[in-house]
Amino acid sequence: MDFSLSKEQQDIVKAAREFASKEFPDRAQEFDRNESFDLDLWRKACELGFVGVFIDEAYDGAGYGFLEHCLITEEFWAVEPGIGQAILSATFGSELLDLFGSEKLKKLVLPRLVSGKAILATAITEPNAGCDVAGAETGAVKEGDEWVLNGAKMFATNGNLADYVLVYCRTDPENPSRHHRHSFILAPTDTRGYESTKIRGKLGIRASDTAELAFNDLRVPSDWLVGKEGEGFYELMAFFNRTRLHICAQAVGLARSAMEESIRHTKQRHQFGKPLASFQVTQFKLAEMATWIRAARNLYYEAAWSVDHGKVDHGLIAMAKWFSAEIAVRCADEAVQMHGGYGYIDEYKVQRLYRDAKILEIYEGTKEMEKTIVSRAVLG
Ligand SMILES: Cc1cc2nc3c(=O)[nH]c(=O)nc-3n(C[C@H](O)[C@H](O)[C@H](O)COP(=O)(O)OP(=O)(O)OC[C@H]3O[C@@H](n4cnc5c(N)ncnc54)[C@H](O)[C@@H]3O)c2cc1C
Repeated sequence: MDFSLSKEQQDIVKAAREFASKEFPDRAQEFDRNESFDLDLWRKACELGFVGVFIDEAYDGAGYGFLEHCLITEEFWAVEPGIGQAILSATFGSELLDLFGSEKLKKLVLPRLVSGKAILATAITEPNAGCDVAGAETGAVKEGDEWVLNGAKMFATNGNLADYVLVYCRTDPENPSRHHRHSFILAPTDTRGYESTKIRGKLGIRASDTAELAFNDLRVPSDWLVGKEGEGFYELMAFFNRTRLHICAQAVGLARSAMEESIRHTKQRHQFGKPLASFQVTQFKLAEMATWIRAARNLYYEAAWSVDHGKVDHGLIAMAKWFSAEIAVRCADEAVQMHGGYGYIDEYKVQRLYRDAKILEIYEGTKEMEKTIVSRAVLG
């Protein structure tokens, strides 16, 4: 068994770390305080080839696997989670388009995502349907050669910035099986009937845009359906099996940052005439962090490897997702604790990490939903 990264993968890690370390730290506090972001940073990351590396070469991607995308994600999040999210979430939905989209739509959208010419959002969650995705009510009705969409979505990442949005909607409300009622439809956001409202006051990842969406008689051509009509629920599960890997890498990156900040602080800060790092309580906290991070990384490496090798393991991915998210929250919590009062103010990075961490246990499957999947896999 070989756990080492190839030379190419090591180079990707090094390049991602250098880019993030140079570009992110000076802007992080400003973006966080203002809930803003500079899209030039995303364009720069696209130019340097960090965005959408898992997209096939046929659509101008690098044709790497999800593992390589995870390596970049971990490095970006290890420097600044909010900025990492703002940049890398611009392709959110491309995984689904790649799996189920028509050649025409893939050729239209994917190269534009890679080159920094377009942003894609994916809208699944609704005011009355979060974890229960099969309960989504946004409707799409076929009229002639068009789909007509009506409904509302919540928490769409990049909903205010996106050029395209992938909408999970009900196309067959009468189907007796609630798992065969939905489909994905792609819509250009400059279409009449698309409305987005910025959600302000988020706890963390405040550089990343989040929107509430409304569709009012939004019309798209019928061949903008992505995947098979009525199979959206299952396509969504396949999509999550890819995108949850990204969350694992986000979590490991954030946890790493929490540990690095803690090491720096506890070596510098003296109490009772000694550095905090000399107390066994501190040492044990750091030992636990290092172990959790290693375990979480090995879980997501295995999960990403399995997807890249066509051996998708739903239970393993869910395990990796909840575990990495949980340890990220714990590491951020311990980091603030080790900083004492300084960790409570926003001049110190750990305060931001503490706030940024929580989303990892919520989006793309809450930890309760992930544990449900794991327990089903365990119980058979
Ligand atoms: C910053 C941010 C970005 C997001 N980005 C996107 C995006 O781009 N696209 C998108 O579609 N959505 C997005 N989301 C939405 C996110 O995926 C949902 O918030 C999440 O799926 C939970 O749904 P909910 O908020 O409606 O919570 P609910 O479904 O109401 O759940 C509330 C709580 O109840 C628990 N719960 C629910 N059902 C059960 C059950 N059966 N058993 C045990 N516990 C249960 C949940 O685990 C949770 O703890 C984003 C959210 C945020 C905050």
